[in-house]
Amino acid sequence: MNKFCKSIAPLALLATTAFGVQAADFPVKDRVITIVVPFTAGGPTDRVARDLAEAMRKPLGGVSVVVDNAAGAGGSIGANKVAKSNPDGHTLLLHHIGMATMPALVRNIPFKVESDFEYLGMVNDVPMTLISRPTLAANNFAELRTWLEANKGKVNLANAGVGAASHLCGLLLQNALKMDMTTVPYKGTAPAMTDLIGGQVDLMCDQTTNTTGQIEAKKVKAYAVTTQKRLNTPALKDLPTLQELGLKDFQVTIFHGLYAPKGTPPDVQKKLNDALKVALKDPDFIKKQEGLGAVVVSDKRMEPAEHKKFVAAEIAKWSPIIKAAGVYAD
Ligand code: ASP
Repeated sequence: MNKFCKSIAPLALLATTAFGVQAADFPVKDRVITIVVPFTAGGPTDRVARDLAEAMRKPLGGVSVVVDNAAGAGGSIGANKVAKSNPDGHTLLLHHIGMATMPALVRNIPFKVESDFEYLGMVNDVPMTLISRPTLAANNFAELRTWLEANKGKVNLANAGVGAASHLCGLLLQNALKMDMTTVPYKGTAPAMTDLIGGQVDLMCDQTTNTTGQIEAKKVKAYAVTTQKRLNTPALKDLPTLQELGLKDFQVTIFHGLYAPKGTPPDVQKKLNDALKVALKDPDFIKKQEGLGAVVVSDKRMEPAEHKKFVAAEIAKWSPIIKAAGVYAD
């Protein structure tokens, strides 16, 4: 070894990232890994994140993986928090289709979906359901349409804020039915669900990860699923699709993905992706998700590059639909 190599080697060994994390140290013992959920606790995104946190704990060497609900502004507050976090792998974001639809639905988000994050891999695909308060006088979609006509101007539709999946689904529904409804924004669909069950709002379109249990318990009425085909989940298998019911091309399936702030060291990203892949094959995680109508990703979208490609394709798919429907918000 020449003199130069001798002097550079120890330096290379000591090299840390700009933020002081060596991949060899990751995850740093005694530090938690926080998965930021940009919606309220107890809702569908939160539910996926908590199950995922549990499944990723072991492959991350047993460190604590906790969930932080940074709710508000349709998911953009939490996403922005992660975009501006220290890129050391200890602060992650679990977000849904909002990553692809927010840029079109909300014109002034304070971060760039494509360049402010490292993509760590996708988690699942989740259908949505159209549901109502239990006291609404309609037991199927045809009756719901009659009821909507009779109550024009008085119908309330709950959502998780501008940019949320429930916002997108509700806007597409109003557009398809050619009917304006008063939207009632919450910081997540957990509190929206409480109000729906209590009868304070009329309708909501939300992920099966939030609605399956309530549909099963008959705490809400369910009219349809937003997928192209009917679902297999026992509690949901009798629900027609909105397409079957005449809403041509109506199809929304949301997805969840895991992200880290831009600049997270590549080997830290790799460790996180490896742990994610272990979680995605964990039979307990798969079973829990399937029971809620979600399908855990088992294809190449568990790889970061494919995740990024998928989100870019979703941006390209949704932006013209949102613009053509005129359903974006300022
Ligand atoms: N389901 C919500 C949405 O509409 C998010 C949530 O509360 O998890 O995007």
